[in-house]
Parts: sequence; C-alpha cells; structure tokens
Amino acid sequence: MNKKKLATVWLGGCSGCHMSLLDIDERILDVAKLADIVKSPVVDGKEMPPVDIALVEGAITSDEHYREIVHIRKQAKTLIAFGDCAVMTNVTGMRNYFHLKDVFDTAYVNAISNDKEGKVPDHPSLLKLNEKVVPLQEVVKVDFVIPGCPPDADAIFYVLFEFLNDRFPNLSKAKKLKYG
Ligand code: SF4
Repeated sequence: MNKKKLATVWLGGCSGCHMSLLDIDERILDVAKLADIVKSPVVDGKEMPPVDIALVEGAITSDEHYREIVHIRKQAKTLIAFGDCAVMTNVTGMRNYFHLKDVFDTAYVNAISNDKEGKVPDHPSLLKLNEKVVPLQEVVKVDFVIPGCPPDADAIFYVLFEFLNDRFPNLSKAKKLKYG
C-alpha cells in the first residue's frame, strides 16, 4: 500500500486537541509507517499540499480561518473535524453570546490587568475576527468528526488507523476496545 499524506491543522482552538494527538505516544510510529505528516504544528510544513486526510482542530473565527478551511477542503480527500471546537464551536464559541465590540473592549480596553489605557490592536496583518464563531461544517463539508474536549487519544489513533487502512471508522467500536 502506498503511503498516505496526512495533515493536522490548528484553527480556532487551544491546541489541546493536538496535545491529545501527541498522547498517542509510540503509536505515532504506526501512523508514520502508513503516512507522511506533510503539514502540522508538529512538523515544519507551512504549505497545505494535497493530502489524503486532514485533521482540523478548532472553529472558524476569522477571515483567515475561512480562507484556510476552504483551501483545506480543496486539498483534502477526507476532512475530519477534530474536537468539540471544530464540531460545535465549544469554548471558542463562548464569545458568540456577546457583541464582538464588547469582546474586544473586555480583552483590550477594560482588562483589569491593563497598567495604562488599553487599545484594541489594529494592523492590516492581523486576522479579522468574524462577528460569530462557526463550526467547520457551516463552511465546508466534513467527512467525519472526532468529538471530545479534547478527544481521547485512543479514539484519535483508532480513527487515524482505520482511515489509513482504507476502512471507515466506527467510533462505538473504539469505545468498546477501550472500555470492554
Ligand atoms: S475541543 Fe477542547 S481541547 Fe480541543 S481546541 Fe477546543 S477547547 Fe481546546
């Protein structure tokens, strides 16, 4: 079997899902036998080449994330929403209960940690936050979801291993493997 290409991407999330990915420990060697990790926060791949599988952590919070997820969708045969922020916005979406201006003011202008007058950063190179955070499936088609905050390392490995062996995962089986 030809080696597959795998990407893991971090959008609007806390990186906890990627920490859980690292918790697959030595099983990363089983993944490495079947796939090259061509883009990820844990490798030095900046571009998003065509891949067989993309694990995407985090929700869509900004213009930049929107462009990224549309590009990832074009490049990935299988796009997996990786963790609850990607699946349903979760922690990242907590700001949806407030107006964006109030969110900025709370963080930058009225923060009690400010030692002088606060100012909302404004620079052309900064991403522009959208008024509302949305999950991946509101922007692109998602082929599979791995729920959890963060997802369980055993579930992550199971899903990856199944896709890398051209099988469609059944998460209830992963739970049975773990809990008997
Ligand atoms: S699902 Fe949880 S661990 Fe993953 S990015 Fe969101 S808050 Fe962090």
